[in-house]
Amino acid sequence: MNYVAPVKDMMFNLKHIAHIESLCELPDLSDSSADTAQAVLDEFARFNQEVLSELNWTGDQTPSSLDPATGVVHTSPGFKEAYGQYIEAGWQGLEHPQCFGGQGFAKSISAACTEMLNSANLSFALCPLLTDGAIEALRVAGSPSLQARFLPHLVSGKWSGTMNLTEPQAGSDLSLIQTRAQEAGDGNYLLFGTKIFITYGEHDMSENIVHMVLARVKDAPAGVKGISLFLVPKFKLTDSGELGDRNDVHCVQLEHKLGIKASPTAVMKFGEHGGAHGLLVGELNRGLEYMFIMMNAARFAVGVQGVAIGERAYQAARAYALERIQSRAVDQPSQGPVAIVHHPDVKRMLMTMRAHVQSARALCCAAASAYDCAHHHPDASVRLQEQRIYEFMVPLVKGYSTEMSQWVSSLAVQVHGGMGFMEETGVAQYYRDAKILTIYEGTTAIQANDLVGRKTFKDRGEVAKLLLVQMQETLAVMSSIQGPQAQSLHKRLTQAREAYEQALAFVLDNFQSHPALVFAAGVPFLLLTAQVMAGWQMAKSLIAAQQAIDSGQDVEFHQSKVETAHFYAEHILTQSPGLAQSIVFGGDSVNAFRAESF
Ligand SMILES: Cc1cc2nc3c(=O)[nH]c(=O)nc-3n(C[C@H](O)[C@H](O)[C@H](O)COP(=O)(O)OP(=O)(O)OC[C@H]3O[C@@H](n4cnc5c(N)ncnc54)[C@H](O)[C@@H]3O)c2cc1C
Repeated sequence: MNYVAPVKDMMFNLKHIAHIESLCELPDLSDSSADTAQAVLDEFARFNQEVLSELNWTGDQTPSSLDPATGVVHTSPGFKEAYGQYIEAGWQGLEHPQCFGGQGFAKSISAACTEMLNSANLSFALCPLLTDGAIEALRVAGSPSLQARFLPHLVSGKWSGTMNLTEPQAGSDLSLIQTRAQEAGDGNYLLFGTKIFITYGEHDMSENIVHMVLARVKDAPAGVKGISLFLVPKFKLTDSGELGDRNDVHCVQLEHKLGIKASPTAVMKFGEHGGAHGLLVGELNRGLEYMFIMMNAARFAVGVQGVAIGERAYQAARAYALERIQSRAVDQPSQGPVAIVHHPDVKRMLMTMRAHVQSARALCCAAASAYDCAHHHPDASVRLQEQRIYEFMVPLVKGYSTEMSQWVSSLAVQVHGGMGFMEETGVAQYYRDAKILTIYEGTTAIQANDLVGRKTFKDRGEVAKLLLVQMQETLAVMSSIQGPQAQSLHKRLTQAREAYEQALAFVLDNFQSHPALVFAAGVPFLLLTAQVMAGWQMAKSLIAAQQAIDSGQDVEFHQSKVETAHFYAEHILTQSPGLAQSIVFGGDSVNAFRAESF
């Protein structure tokens, strides 16, 4: 199935959710105008549609492979050449600062590009995604000398990055990390240990691989307070910054997986032959703090991956539904069998997919725009507030969009009927690929813990309440919009907002006194919060679309936005009061069941 990037919807969000014309007035964002965004999105859409999308299926059929004799990992056919084109065109540097060779575009624009890249080829996209994370960590915590030696090569994509956290006994719980870092006597370190599940831990697409590794030095405090961050390059650098000797870090195995088969998932051994040369990033024992910077970037991007796979699955389902002839229409039985898109239940599935994908895309855009303000606004108090909003939104973007991608890719299989279960239609691949998204970069439960603890209880719900006030302002504007769709969304968003307020009060009141009750409701609370926040973006979309219709602009497209927002109101926001009931009253029925009784 060919992929067509939804540039029009992305531009709609950039204009009406991110307010790109205001963003580009911020210092250092003058290149991020709507016109430039349109040009960048059009160009990147072409590359993704023509090059990367074509390699998605072959990558699934011909996964990356390790040659045990040489230790070389061969990526899937065409990947290396496509990566060459990707970096040649400068796509890796899209959102990174110009002083390191990047293009310095707003994150609101680069997030749309990230979506396209992942729709076209999720397995391929993981390599640039991890590089982005390494860049972010080095920018924040790296010394000027580390930045000068590594950032230009990472920003150009000549070198790629990885994130080495997971060990066999340390997954969600990073306090259990055992990889050791020993002083080498020259100010640097030697690392020893094993990391598992390392995405693009070894491959043949870039000249060097920059591993960001969590490890403990001797006598470090126990738990997360004793973890440091090290940069371990595959090839050590000479004094002049050229590629030097091979470092003692090796891939010993590639995993066989359910999905994202073209993406090499490596078991990495550090220090099997005397010690892997490592450079400390930032200060000792602050590694987890730095890694969280990298993880926030990566978690946001994984949320965007959820939108991406949802979009691609939706496109496949829509194409099939328009083509497949089966059964008579209930309202016109005399006509004979029709394309299945005419059956109300198929329409319901397609509308569900469409509403989920568009609302999650708008939520990602709102978060990216907060990030842009947090990094570029001249007023420090605005920067601080926007940073808090962005951080609040990261677990929503990650947790909700990735859960949504499971529902949407499953519906795509369902729309295809039996053919969906056959590999050759391609939707089975989207379904398999999507499953990893709720697991890596912290499972949905870990996102929920973050939302409930750090992002909600810690500030006594301050950011949440601020967003509720802003939502109320949107509702006030909406009350003046005529038409049944606007009225329906106004009513359902008001009810959903009240439901969220009730759940928020429950979390704040019970967090300390009844933690097991609150954490039993963590994931439903995340789903409810995101559902309401995404519904808010749908309200903004409806307002803008209605105004465009009233002034006669691209009526068909804007009418489809209004109809999609209406569906969201009646089929998704209507779930919010039910979710709130489970959150407030459901905890006992979870905790009453004894662990031994399972
Ligand atoms: C394909 C793939 C690629 C990956 N890439 C990388 C990579 O590049 N770098 C890297 O470092 N790691 C990577 N990972 C590892 C990934 O981040 C972990 O698998 C993930 O964080 C979950 O850890 P775990 O597998 O140990 O599961 P566990 O931590 O054992 O979790 C098992 C279950 O318990 C639940 N659980 C655990 N703790 C809690 C809690 N406190 N509250 C509620 N529920 C909890 C989880 O939600 C989950 O449902 C990758 C994994 C895969 C499969």
